Amino acid sequence: MGRIIAIANQKGGVGKTTTAINLSACLAEKGQKVLAIDMDPQGNMSSGLGLDKNSVEKTIYDMIIGEAEVEEVLQRETIENLDILPANVDLSAAEIELIGVEEKEYIVRNSIQKIRDNYDYVVIDCPPSLSMLTINAMTTADSVLVPIQCEYYALEGLSQLIHTVELVKERLNPTLEIEGVVFTMYDARTNLSLQVVENVKDNLQQNIYKTIIPRNIRLAEAPSYGMPINQYDAKSAGADSYMRLADEVISRGEE
Ligand code: ATP
Ligand code: MG
Repeated sequence: MGRIIAIANQKGGVGKTTTAINLSACLAEKGQKVLAIDMDPQGNMSSGLGLDKNSVEKTIYDMIIGEAEVEEVLQRETIENLDILPANVDLSAAEIELIGVEEKEYIVRNSIQKIRDNYDYVVIDCPPSLSMLTINAMTTADSVLVPIQCEYYALEGLSQLIHTVELVKERLNPTLEIEGVVFTMYDARTNLSLQVVENVKDNLQQNIYKTIIPRNIRLAEAPSYGMPINQYDAKSAGADSYMRLADEVISRGEE
């Protein structure tokens, strides 16, 4: 049965989508069957994995409002071993559409249950909010992976996120776990990055991935070419770090 990992942090711009894109692609390169689910109306995961998000016929929004089956939304093998459920700005209406809908917290889960056995990993990119879309990601997921940007306010908002995960676990998805935190945009030239890592390690009782994602310009460039980092520049420090993160995710799953 596939392992479903939601990449979440309600803070904007911390590297969720970059991590979701590149973790998915690196897992796929390692021979794992991967489903990438874009749950953010910004649609950056979809475009970053090479889809033209505005010309795809059906998106996850159509699935959420019951206008399409999951198989109709699926974009198969956009990259070898990797399928995508794409999103675009249409998804921003989902929140409103879900008001009053029965079992609205489980809409995505109910669709994904039908196909999860086809995959080794399902990676969900969440929007920067603790909205109904994020709740749906958390009821679908087995675990939540939290990217933390190496900057001064790194810990801000983290307690709300952990509290949300605990509430979802208590009331909606008893098997949900926090997969761990991964540091992103680490800048070896500044003391600040190092201080943030030390501070979080001292204050957070969560699993912390050994792999630290460096600040790397190639990671920022790759999405504009619609390529994950292992395709765009396989020799870059960014590619190396996400390949190592994929190894860690795989070996944690085997524990
Ligand atoms: P949002 O909250 O808006 O969804 P996010 O958490 O998904 O944002 P990203 O979109 O992944 O964050 O990253 C924010 C910006 O930082 C992007 O322009 C991205 O290209 C850049 N970025 C992310 N990670 C790195 C990195 N390791 N090195 C350099 N640039 C990065
Ligand atoms: Mg994002």
